[in-house]
Amino acid sequence: MRTKYSTCSVCSKFESLRIFVARAVLFTCVLSSVESLLPPTVLTGGSQSVHRQLCVKFGQAIDKEDTEWRDILSPEEYYILREEGTEPPFSSELNSVKESGTFVCRGCGAPLFTTGSKFDSGTGWPSFTYPVDDSVDLRTDFKLIIPRTECRCATCKGHLGHVFSDGPEPTGLRYCMNGLAMSFKSDDEHPETAKLVNSREVIEGRKSVRPPLGVALPGIVLNSFLAVAITSSFFSGPHGQASSVLEYFPLVFAFYFGWLVVRDISRFMS
Ligand SMILES: [Zn+2]
Repeated sequence: MRTKYSTCSVCSKFESLRIFVARAVLFTCVLSSVESLLPPTVLTGGSQSVHRQLCVKFGQAIDKEDTEWRDILSPEEYYILREEGTEPPFSSELNSVKESGTFVCRGCGAPLFTTGSKFDSGTGWPSFTYPVDDSVDLRTDFKLIIPRTECRCATCKGHLGHVFSDGPEPTGLRYCMNGLAMSFKSDDEHPETAKLVNSREVIEGRKSVRPPLGVALPGIVLNSFLAVAITSSFFSGPHGQASSVLEYFPLVFAFYFGWLVVRDISRFMS
């Protein structure tokens, strides 16, 4: 005789959540594969000739073997730049730098940021609102499932940190960098570096620095998917049978991902 089993609301929601997680992982894998096929986005707006001057000026190899990087970099620097590591917050002496100068890549010496774009974010990592033009590549990073924008040195492809959308004007962006990935060159001690970086062409280009929609699009798509998937997963179960407030907890994530979508789209509509 066949026994009819009843399914409690918690079990039903757990099953829906399991299906949702499986779909999210699959979707993330697909997005990561597509993203890896795309060329990196180089922030532009300044003069390509200035970028070439900077590369020639600092004269380091753009592409090296792994063994060469290990010889050049300290173990800590190698971990950050070549293994995409993250230093502990409040550990970098660059956090306190206020002197006028240039922050250059520790891997290749290319100028990345200036003190003029630096601000105190309170996060414990050196933070900037915009880079030197053509100095960084941006890629979408799915390592934490939730997409983030990874920032790399455009010259040697070393990992620098991540970019977030909660920075101050003029860009509204926060370049959250690892101090171990950079060195500081003061304008007084390195006037040639200051002369190149602060050329009129580069300064004018900074005003228009914003990540193109192509960089943010994967995040918008994935966050939309997560918001819809969580919401539909929740409401696909038995309605009105939630026995505790905790069963509504997934909706908090749905609202969060929905808010991220609205925020990112509004940035490009403004
Ligand atoms: Zn570099």
